Amino acid sequence: MKEDNFREKRIKMVDSQIRAKGVVGSKVLKVMEKIPRHRFIPENTKAHAYADEPLPIGKGQTISQPYIVAYMTDALNLDGSEKILEIGTGSGYQTAILAEIGREIYTVEVIELLATRAKKVLSELSYTNIQFKLGDGNEGWDEHALYDAILVTAAPPKIPDKLVEQLKIGGRMILPVGVTFQELVYIEKLKNKFRKKKLLPVRFVPLVSMD
Ligand code: SAH
Repeated sequence: MKEDNFREKRIKMVDSQIRAKGVVGSKVLKVMEKIPRHRFIPENTKAHAYADEPLPIGKGQTISQPYIVAYMTDALNLDGSEKILEIGTGSGYQTAILAEIGREIYTVEVIELLATRAKKVLSELSYTNIQFKLGDGNEGWDEHALYDAILVTAAPPKIPDKLVEQLKIGGRMILPVGVTFQELVYIEKLKNKFRKKKLLPVRFVPLVSMD
């Protein structure tokens, strides 16, 4: 398929799957109209790249449905100044979106093959504000903490303490939480407490635990 055809599908995707379902943050919409989602998807699935569904990316993992990617990004309310930690690099698609909107992106993935592939695509697309780490996302990435925002794309059974610790005061985190039943949770860290909101039921791959 030609790049122009992919582009057409992408504009349609944003209109019918994202704008129509109420995500209105114009930056997120603009970026999703621009980023070639098909480049992050294995050859044999590329035809579905702009469909309203999650897709397999190998090693039993999935790239999230476009709407969920948009919803999570929008919820973080980014203004472009942020240092952001992402847990679960996967295909690297969500990473690209964060790199377009945020200032510095730190992304952690536990499966080497996926991390290597994501790194390659993201460098082909000329992103220079992304740092990659191979390791356990439950630990966050201490060396670069504190973060303005944290986005997690695999579900832990409960909110990992280390991630909350690595969030700045005023920082926001969005993550799926749960085992069989999962919910998307939004957290804002305040001085002596945090504000927590449950957003919607979701289905993510598990955030694997290393202990
Ligand atoms: N954001 C990704 C979605 C990937 S699916 C995308 O846009 O494609 C979730 C990813 O989390 C998978 O790649 C999986 O390998 C990774 N993952 C699962 N447990 C992890 C852990 N403990 N630490 C880091 N990454 C983890």
